[in-house]
Parts: sequence; C-alpha cells; structure tokens
Amino acid sequence: MERIYNFSPGPAVLPREVLEQASDELMNWNGCGMSVMEMSHRGKDFGSILESAEADLGILLGIPPGYRTLFLQGGATMQFAQVPMNLLAGGSADYVVTGDWSKKACKEARRHGAVRQVADTEADGFTSLPSWSELDLDPDAAYLHLCTNETIRGVEVFDFDSLPAGVPLVADMSSHILSRPMDVSRFGLIYAGAQKNIGPAGICLVIVHEDLLGKAAEGIPSLLDYALQAENHSMVNTPPTFAIYMAGLVFKWLIRQGGLKAMERVNLRKAQLLYDLIDGSGFYNNPVRPDCRSRMNVPFTLRDPKLDETFLAEARLHGILQIKGHKSVGGMRASIYNAMPQEGVHALADFMAEFQRKHG
Ligand code: PMP
Repeated sequence: MERIYNFSPGPAVLPREVLEQASDELMNWNGCGMSVMEMSHRGKDFGSILESAEADLGILLGIPPGYRTLFLQGGATMQFAQVPMNLLAGGSADYVVTGDWSKKACKEARRHGAVRQVADTEADGFTSLPSWSELDLDPDAAYLHLCTNETIRGVEVFDFDSLPAGVPLVADMSSHILSRPMDVSRFGLIYAGAQKNIGPAGICLVIVHEDLLGKAAEGIPSLLDYALQAENHSMVNTPPTFAIYMAGLVFKWLIRQGGLKAMERVNLRKAQLLYDLIDGSGFYNNPVRPDCRSRMNVPFTLRDPKLDETFLAEARLHGILQIKGHKSVGGMRASIYNAMPQEGVHALADFMAEFQRKHG
C-alpha cells in the first residue's frame, strides 16, 4: 500500500528512509544475526548504537560541554513530576502557563513542592505568549519552567535570547526539538517526548546541565534520579532499546538533510504555505498571534464547524490523515514535523483550497 500523508500530532510521521532502513535491518542488524530488539542492552552492539545516537544528537544541537544527555522512559508526562523531584530541592519553582501542556506540567509539579504560576495566557484562549520582561519572577527560584511549543494550540517560542536569565530555565520542547537550531546553553534542562520529532514513542530525551544533578529529593525511586541515570548512561534498568535505535536513525537522517539550519528553512516554508493560505482564505481561521504561531502544529477551524466531518472524509480520499484537531479546540490541526515532506504540505494546501472552492 502507498503511504499516506500523516498529519498526526504524535506518534507522528517518521522519515520514509528511516523506516526503510529499519525494515532492512530488522532481522539482522549489522551482520550480527539478530534484531536490535533481541540484543542485550549491556552488549557492545547496543552500546555502539547508544553512543552514536548521543554523539549525533550532540552534533545536531551543538550540545555544549557540561550537559548530559539521557534517554528516559515515562514520556514527557513523567518529566512533569521528575523535574520537580530532582530540581526543587526544598525550594520553589516558577511556571509559565501558555497552553494545555504547561498547565499540566504546573499542576503536576504542585504535587511535589512549592510552585508559583507566574504567567497564564488562558484568558486569551492560549493564543499568545507573555511579555518575558514583565514577569514577576522569583530570583531565588530553583528553576523557571516553560513549554516552548504548545502542541495543541500551536504556540511557539522563537526568540530564546529574550527569555529571562538568572534562574535555570527548564523547557518542554517535545513538539519542536530539532526543528531548527536551538541554543542549548540558554537552558538548565530540556526535555522532549520522542514521538514527534525524534522517533517512536517510548523514550523521553532529557538534556541536563551537570550543575543541576545531585539535588534529587530523598526517597525518590532510583530510576527517576537524573544523577543516577547520568552515571549509568540511561541504563539504571533496561532502556527502550529499539526506540533508541530508531531515534539514532532519525538523527543520522537529519545530519544527511544538512542539519538543523536546513530543516529550519524547509519547516519555515511548510508553515508559511499553510498560514498564508489560512489568513488569505476568509474560510479557515487560526487565532494565534502571528509572532508566536507554531511551525510544527498548525491548528485551524473552518468557518462552519458543520463542515468538519465532510472535510475529514474528503481529506482522507486525498490521502490526508490524522488531521482532526484536539477535542478541546475542535477544527483541524496539521502537525508538520521534520519528517512531513514538503509535497505533503502542498497536497494539504491544494486540498484546502479545493475544499473551499467546493464548500465555501
Ligand atoms: N508536552 C508536550 C508539549 C506534548 O505535546 C505532549 C504530548 N503530546 C506531552 C508533553 C506529553 O507527552 P507524553 O504523552 O509522551 O507523556
């Protein structure tokens, strides 16, 4: 069967070449006579897979010395708890709420200690970002948490340089990591669930500065202690080996594409095509403030929501799938991660224009 264009927010489309390589290597990885799924995580074969994945990620993101890269489990949701468990150290943290995910992160953190919510854009329907310089921040906070791309509403932070300095920044980058060059040194800790721009579900990437290690609350499960995971190369227990292998293939694919600068150029073009069409249509609408519209997740509504089901049914006939918006927002959402080819976005734009001609 021919592949369709998959606009899912995650688990999301993977690069075709990566799937083909994984398929070729499935039964017999690198001549060792077994699948990656079947090999010991302590053996030298898997050791080399993990090492390459880490090294390639370091090259792609330009991770500076002093940071540790961890491949953990429990998804980004586990990080909502694991971050405060490891970093609060009896102090307090500041949280910026700009969408459903940072709201969840803030709520979860409250279970683990003192948290101040220092911004909340819910009043405008999560369609904007706060003015960073006007936030009432605690200079003694253990960290400041934010989500740099809100997957559901499609709100993205572009200018990392203007983010507050002073306390370590902790960022949930699940849905836009690797979509463009990112200055890791601005952050104390970055986390990202894998199933959007990294690989299959099952791993959560954590990049943490060594200064933040060793502050874990007493009594937390050893599996959740960043310092212990760093000491054990993410292998306090058996890691999701196949998912790490797949992430490694995606990192190599990104390097072959020309790295994150090249990805940014393509991602910009893809997003611009959709936003221009939406804004010029008088039929589709995206309510997010233009300077913080996500390049990865493009939510939009139709003028008449009664047309939603027809849109979805006709889209399917054009090979356009998993584009239904989140239930809290309605309408549609086109998630156009790195692995969504430009042809896919063109196919969507052509279909949207045709749909409007027919039903508008
Ligand atoms: N943060 C963001 C920004 C997300 O988009 C998601 C999932 N869509 C999560 C956190 C939760 O991730 P997980 O399901 O891997 O726990």
